[in-house]
Parts: sequence; structure tokens; C-alpha cells
Amino acid sequence: MEDPDALLAAGAAALGLRLTDEQRAALLRLVAELAEWNGRFNLTAIREPADMVRKHLLDSLAVHAFIAGGRICDVGTGPGFPGLPLAGVNPRRRFTLVEATAKKARFVEHAARALALDNVEVVNARAEAWRAPAPFDTVICRALGKLHEFVRFAGHLCARDGRMLAMKGQCPGTELEAVPRGWRVVAVRRLEVPGLDAERHLVELARA
Ligand code: SAH
Repeated sequence: MEDPDALLAAGAAALGLRLTDEQRAALLRLVAELAEWNGRFNLTAIREPADMVRKHLLDSLAVHAFIAGGRICDVGTGPGFPGLPLAGVNPRRRFTLVEATAKKARFVEHAARALALDNVEVVNARAEAWRAPAPFDTVICRALGKLHEFVRFAGHLCARDGRMLAMKGQCPGTELEAVPRGWRVVAVRRLEVPGLDAERHLVELARA
């Protein structure tokens, strides 16, 4: 069986990230917590620790370079992706993780405490019904839905000159043509996730 720690260390290095021993330990703790809670609450279909490292940790960290600003919001974070890994490696940025389902939000709260992440706030709400105290510089999502839904749910959370980042598998061709009025596609980037032989794209939106 593959060693999760070695996978994470090699993967992070391939992404150009220098993780401290503490950061690596915290990320592995996240995998352990998720595996434990998964037995009771079925939070993710991904069950093997090595798979969790690739598909949850490294996949989340692959967008690290495109996060901008001090206030970041992860919409529909589920069990905490990409928000928790990104918060773990960006201690100076503040992350707000929004999740509609109570049991998932509870896990994210628990994990943030277990990992001693004091830059994470969890909001158990539907994003479209939640009003943030201040707008966010980067609003990000993974596997939330189509681009127009992301904008509908969370566009109001994005600062005037902020960015909306949607993590996608294949390049979402038709969705790009259906970006809602008032928004424009700034970039579509192809991402490489170390150890994952699958297409990944990051769509960046800004106000038109
Ligand atoms: N981002 C996570 C989870 C993806 S599943 C990951 O990639 O692993 C999508 C999640 O978004 C679900 O947990 C669902 O409860 C949540 N969700 C869907 N619509 C939402 C909304 N409008 N506001 C907040 N959360 C939402």
C-alpha cells in the first residue's frame, strides 16, 4: 500500500509547495478524521487514505497559486474541500467555509479544531441565503454545480474586484457560453494534480 505521508510530500513538492512538518501532519490528520467520521456519516465516497491524499488534499492544493487576497470563501465545501487544505497552507488568509448540510458542516467544524486552524470559520447555510459581514476577495467551489449556479448561489459574496474560481474536471465548454450577465470568464486553466491521471480545469470569473 502507498504511504500517504510520502505521497503528500512528493505531491506538494510537485505543486511547488513547501510544507512544514506541522502542515503535513495537519493535512494527514484531516485524512484520518475524515476516514473515521466517514464510517458513521458517509461524508465522502473516497475511502482509501492514498486516494484521499490525491483526490482531496492534492486536488485542493493544486489551486493554491490562484487564490488571491486575504478573505477567501469556499462555497459548498462538503467535508471541507478545497477550503481546509488551502487554509492549512495559508495561515495568513482567512477562510470561510459555507456548507448547507448540517452533518458536513459539523465535521468541518470538528476538523478545523482538530487541526488547530484558527483561520477557518464554518457557516452552515445555503450560500444564497447567507449575507457575509464583508465581501470576499476569492470565492471558490469544487463540485458545486454548473457555473451559472455558482454565480447564482455565491456571486453576492464576491468583492467588486474579486474573483470567482470554479474547480472543474473536463473543460466545461457549454457552461462557459452560459456565464450569467454581469460576469465574464477571465481564464480557463488546465491543472495538473500529482498522481491523478484525470483532467482538471480551473475557471476564473470576474464582474464584467
Ligand atoms: N466541495 C466539496 C463538496 C462537493 S458536493 C468537494 O469537492 O468535495 C457539493 C456540496 O455543496 C454538498 O455538500 C452540498 O450540500 C453543498 N451545497 C450545494 N448547494 C449549496 C448552496 N447553495 N449553499 C451551500 N452549500 C451547498
